[in-house]
Amino acid sequence: MNAKTPQQNLIELDGSQGEGGGQVLRTALALSMITRTPFKIERIRAKRSKPGLLRQHLTAVQAAAAISGAQVQGDELHSTTLYFQPGPIRGGDFRFSIGSAGSCTLVLQTILPALWFADAPSTVSVTGGTHNKSAPPADFLILCWAPLLARMGITQTIQLNRHGFYPAGGGEVTAHVEPGATLRPITLIERGPCHALRAEAVVADVPGSIAKRELDQVAARLDCPDGRVRELPQAEGPGNVLMIEARFAQVTELFTAFGERGISAESVANHAAKEARLYLESTAAVGEYLADQLLLPMALAGSGSFTATVASSHLQTNIKVIKQFLPVDIQLSQTDNSAVQVDLS
Ligand code: AMP
Repeated sequence: MNAKTPQQNLIELDGSQGEGGGQVLRTALALSMITRTPFKIERIRAKRSKPGLLRQHLTAVQAAAAISGAQVQGDELHSTTLYFQPGPIRGGDFRFSIGSAGSCTLVLQTILPALWFADAPSTVSVTGGTHNKSAPPADFLILCWAPLLARMGITQTIQLNRHGFYPAGGGEVTAHVEPGATLRPITLIERGPCHALRAEAVVADVPGSIAKRELDQVAARLDCPDGRVRELPQAEGPGNVLMIEARFAQVTELFTAFGERGISAESVANHAAKEARLYLESTAAVGEYLADQLLLPMALAGSGSFTATVASSHLQTNIKVIKQFLPVDIQLSQTDNSAVQVDLS
């Protein structure tokens, strides 16, 4: 689809619906800009322990306002209500700073879809957290999300410049977008043959021996002999993330776990290996997280199908929010006991 001329009907959203997290807001911002539809949301992130706009969500709102010249009310820290009326999407060079370890990738996922429909190319840099719990790591955007978008016709590059971990933040991700593509529908029912299964243990200001133990434990849990330790400059830490990449012909998946004080390297590895195993043993093309992140581009393409390991509450909530903005039908069906199919038409 193409970015729309203004539409007057205000969409009213309940931020506490379903998952009740930040994705309701992010999807609304992206689709509001693309469809030129104003929206009002109440009870923002009502189901989170700290409801309302945290720095990351406020930055997403401010970034969306900057690229679309939006009129906004309620754009304050901890606000639980927001009114957003976008103007036309303008490409350009943008820098946004979250000012905490809030997720850079979630800010990017809010504005990149809009920039696909902008009037000019864009370069966007976001500083903050790049490897956060409960958010896609920058590697996930680069290895898993972006290649599927490229297949749909999007011209975009995403680059991790500097890692940022909780609580220090200070990482940076830059994306470049060439707008103007028409999104092509894709079908992702089977993942195809496995091309690689490998693990990377990243440490910053944390002993390399921790990373080594994580990789040994992954090798004990999965048939994954290919592991590498990556030691970052001390200044990027402290931080430790373990990522298991599963590259198939049709899709790449990434399973992540974070090192924490008081949690053994082996427990961290077990967590990532368990997630990887769940996916590897299923017949689904995509895992839980990629499923809810693939939905918006697929809805913009107007049709498509994919199989996923689970119909998570993020996925189900995102379906409801997307349907408020786009005239798309989205059906969920169980294919076998390890996968669900999502059909958009
Ligand atoms: P919310 O909780 O509503 O802010 O949404 C969190 C987003 O982060 C969802 O789109 C999830 O799919 C995504 N997410 C959470 N954990 C991971 C992970 N380990 N890998 C990739 N994406 C993730």
